[in-house]
Formats: sequence, C-alpha cells, structure tokens
Amino acid sequence: MSFAVEFNSSAPGNFIRRSLAATPTDIRHSLLKDKLSLDDFAHLISPAASAFLPELSARSQRLTRRRFGRVVRLFAPLYLSNECVNNCSYCGFSRDNAILRVTLSVEEVLREARALREQGFRNILLVAGEHPKFVSNDYLRQCVAALHQESPSVSLEVGPLETEEYRPLVAAGADGLVIYQETYDRKVYAQVHTAGPKKSFDWRLETPERAYAAGFRRLGISALYGLGDWRYEAVCVAAHADYLLRHCWKAQLTISLPRLRPCAGEFQPFTQFSDRELAQLVCAFRLTFPDAGLVLSTRESARMRNGLIPLGITLISAGSHTEPGGYTGAGREKLHQTVRGKVVNLSAARLNGEGASEWATGQFEVSDDRSPREVADIIQKLGYEPVWKDWDTALA
Ligand code: SF4
Repeated sequence: MSFAVEFNSSAPGNFIRRSLAATPTDIRHSLLKDKLSLDDFAHLISPAASAFLPELSARSQRLTRRRFGRVVRLFAPLYLSNECVNNCSYCGFSRDNAILRVTLSVEEVLREARALREQGFRNILLVAGEHPKFVSNDYLRQCVAALHQESPSVSLEVGPLETEEYRPLVAAGADGLVIYQETYDRKVYAQVHTAGPKKSFDWRLETPERAYAAGFRRLGISALYGLGDWRYEAVCVAAHADYLLRHCWKAQLTISLPRLRPCAGEFQPFTQFSDRELAQLVCAFRLTFPDAGLVLSTRESARMRNGLIPLGITLISAGSHTEPGGYTGAGREKLHQTVRGKVVNLSAARLNGEGASEWATGQFEVSDDRSPREVADIIQKLGYEPVWKDWDTALA
C-alpha cells in the first residue's frame, strides 16, 4: 500500500485532538518509553508539552549525541534554474511572477560547484524549478554527472519524476532526493497550488517511494511551515516518516524544518509557528525518530540556528544563495523574463548599462547570511565538529 493510500484512509485530525487534549501525565508517560509512537509524538508537540521544553531539549541533545556523535554536516544548495511552470502562491519562482530568470549551462553549474568546493563543501543539493523545457531530465542527468566529479555527494530537489526517469539520475551519481509536500492539508494545498502539474497532491505525496524504487539511498521530506496548522503538518510529516522507515528502510531519512520566508509575490503565511514551537518540534522529531537526520536551512536566523543545533540538528546549509548563479555570477548575461513559456530578453541597457548589477531573482530571502566559515566556527564553538561531506558516501 502506498503512503498516499495509507494517508487517505488515516485520520490525522484524531492525533491533533489527542495532542490538544494531552495532559502533563500523558507527556510523562510518553517520555518513559524507549520507542515512541505517533501518539507519543502528538503528545510531545502538544501545548501542554511546551512546559517540558527544558527536559525535551536535554533528552533530545543526549539522544542526538548517542546516535550521531558530536557532528554537524554542512551542505549548500546550488540553484540550476528559476524557470517554473507551476504557480505556488508562496514561491518567488511562480510562473506568473515577473522575475529575472535564468537556467545555468552545465559549464556554469560546474563553475558554481567549484566555488562551493573552494569554500569547503562536498555535499551539494541541486535545486531547480519545474520546467520540462528548460530543466529537462537529460539536462539534470548531465548536471549530476558533471558534479559527481567535483562533489562526492549530490542530492536533488527538483520537480517530481517517474521512477524510470529517476534511474538515469541515480546512475549518474545522485544519491539523495528531497521533496517537500509543502502542506499535507488538501484544502490548503489546492488553495496555494493554482496552476501546473504540482496541483496533483497524491502524485507529489508518492514521490519519495518512486525515488526509493529508482535507487536513491537518501530521502528528505518536510512540510513548509506557515501554510497549514503546524501541528497538523508535523503529525503528517511524522506519519510519512514512519511509513518511509517501514517501507523504504534501506534509505537514510532526513526531515527538514523550513518556515516560510519573504519572496517575490509577497505571500504572507496563513499560520503562525513560533520559535519556541519550532524548538519543541525539533525535540519531538528527534525523540520519535532517533536515526533521522534533521535539517535546518538558512531560512532561520543565525540566533535561531545557533540555539537549535544542539537540540538535534544534524545537517545544516550555510552561505546559501537561492538564485541560479548566486555564488559566481554565472549566467547573468542571459537573464530574461519568461512570458507564457517564451523567453523575453531584457534590454541591452538593463543588462550592460547601469542596471548591470542585476542578478537572477532568488526563491526566497535567506535569514542567516553568515559565511560557511563563520557557521563552521560557531558549530565548533558549540562543541561539535563541522563535517563538509556526507560520511556515508565517504565510507562507500
Ligand atoms: S515551489 Fe517549486 S514548483 Fe512551486 S513555483 Fe516554486 S519552484 Fe516552482
């Protein structure tokens, strides 16, 4: 049974009701267990569990150190293209946004990768909007094959594909696939995905399984917090993680914790998710899924990231740019706008004249703009070792 079938016959609302009604006694019972269930997870994210945050943090920290050692891995996103055929209200790359777009050539991607390598990164996440014309499967394969020479660990965060379409990417050297469901609330999903293939909720929901069948050995999932109710999203992510650990058990699972950030289109989050609740959620994921990697990006501020690392974060991005060419300026001379799938060139004056400082538009504003070196130094100061590559790959 696929996760979509399991999810469609489940009732996440029941977990939310139990979460909202959880008492301190329920939380203490959950904390006595060696192995936590989804019910226990619901208790740990309950309003009542907020008062337990110091205890949750201490347990989460101890468990993370036992399972992962004092190690925090670093990665960098490398944006290939900001072309997209979808309209997602919360994303700067939405097709109807009149932004500056570009798709990097394979050589330009290599230039970006080499700049990241010089900064120390050996773990790269290739990110692209969904656009079959500009970001074809063969283009992705060529990028992965070229990058695999430069970086031992290459993951993808791109539009969902069929299993057979994933196989050449795995063969070319991609080992991880990241796919956020964005929101597990069908109503909200339909509200924010107004055009393009992304409108299909179930197709997206089954993507990690198709990726696993194709041979990816690292799977990353998440919701994008700020769309639906955060407890509902968290319970659904936990159910999804639980399913993947049962059915795709040869893969390493990572869970990200992205909160919405400002972007082109100026979308405002529908729901709130406070710093304290985010910390509580990190602990709940760690205590329920002791071996899952927990990922925190530069969407969060430096202060927040410094505070959350010791609670259970194992993978962190640094020095990130969310625009294609952001690390070297690659592709700036090709900037254009895309109207109904057609490229509309910018005027020469805009590209070469006084407006020549233009860069491709980013997906969202990062919050932590410290350099990778600064982030690595802080990780060390916190008592952890910053690791620039994926140790699984190194061992393989
Ligand atoms: S979230 Fe992804 S699919 Fe949606 S507009 Fe942005 S890049 Fe395109």
